[in-house]
Amino acid sequence: MKALHAPAAGVPAPALPGLELPAAPRRDGPPPVVISWGLGRDSSTILALALGDPRTLPMYQSLGYDPATMIVIHAVTGDEWDDTLRDAEHHILPLLREHGVRLVQVARGGPFEADGIEILDDSRSPTRLHKAGPWRLSDELRTSGTVPMLAHGRRTCSVKFKGSVIDRFIAADLQGCSYRHVLGFNADEGERVLRDQTYTSATRAPEYPLITWGYDTADCVALLRERFGVTWKKSYCVQCPFPGNIGGLPGHLERLRAFPERAAEVLMLEHVALSLNPNSRLFGSTTLRSHVVADRNTEALTAFRHAQAAGSWSVYQVRRILWPRGDEHLKGPAWRSVRTLGVAGSHAEATQELRRRAGERGGVIEVDEHRIARVWERHRGETYPTREAFDVVAPAVVLDKARPEFATAWGELEYRAKQPLLPGS
Ligand code: SF4
Repeated sequence: MKALHAPAAGVPAPALPGLELPAAPRRDGPPPVVISWGLGRDSSTILALALGDPRTLPMYQSLGYDPATMIVIHAVTGDEWDDTLRDAEHHILPLLREHGVRLVQVARGGPFEADGIEILDDSRSPTRLHKAGPWRLSDELRTSGTVPMLAHGRRTCSVKFKGSVIDRFIAADLQGCSYRHVLGFNADEGERVLRDQTYTSATRAPEYPLITWGYDTADCVALLRERFGVTWKKSYCVQCPFPGNIGGLPGHLERLRAFPERAAEVLMLEHVALSLNPNSRLFGSTTLRSHVVADRNTEALTAFRHAQAAGSWSVYQVRRILWPRGDEHLKGPAWRSVRTLGVAGSHAEATQELRRRAGERGGVIEVDEHRIARVWERHRGETYPTREAFDVVAPAVVLDKARPEFATAWGELEYRAKQPLLPGS
């Protein structure tokens, strides 16, 4: 474990080339310190250090980590592991109460930006951690039939359910004043620091004290174990597929064994996503289900089967346009339209409905390796743009959705496809 030497002040973010930002409003006194607390090992280590030993407390206060003025903020995704919540509640909340630190727990207010954010708790004597707000990340994934994804190298779920929620709270609370944003990236996470620095604004000065103090993951785990007598688990959503978050697969599977009901929920999320897109495996090239089966996690699989049997099922029409990325051989963005064709009830009834519709059009039901029944109307081609369309039986949890331009774009591509090829074209 690291010795508690006097840490240097935070690492200022480098200026971004070519980015002109308005000057921050003037404010009396030093900028407030806002600590993003994800409940995990790293940010919990910062709190354990800054609010810990009375002998070192003045040292951290001199850096501006003053319990009276600092704000600890936790973005509630709604899908955190129960053991992380338990340890954070049991060991960190007493520290915050003892020092009268302001803890703000905040979550998305709903699926739309207009729903804003909801402050679940704002207190200097917090007694519990909220498991969920009004709209969980898993609600978003379930109703859109997707799994967490990367877009332009960024985890859209994290931006939407953590970064933007925190930014909106800070904008409202600090009203444009400059602040020091303390993040719990450790000495093993240089890449995350580089990524974080691209979000920097005129008012936000990010700091990475664990890096300044030389704490890596092992140091954080050791400090928390020594301080609280527990092996602090990683903090991440139960459905997270990103290796950087979940650590190694064996540890993840062990956690899924410890919480089979949560595992079943994620298996269901993955099943919905696979129904709407056969390529939506949770781990990209492999499914969560294949790992859970190989791990012989029969409790999770049984809970998953029970949830499937108890749930209601619909027939959906799924249409997808895959656009080119510059070149007709490179896949670009995908547009999707999902439309409910009928809520049938049980899986057998929905399958019957699919069969009836297939019969009307002369289609054939195909059942894939995930036991998902579809009637294909068109398979995607080899070059872009291309389209695919099918009807599918899936859990009745997905909301109808298509961007406004979808129908026109689909119609134009259909029209183009029907034009006879002109000689020489
Ligand atoms: S932990 Fe994973 S799933 Fe949850 S918000 Fe972060 S990246 Fe997304």
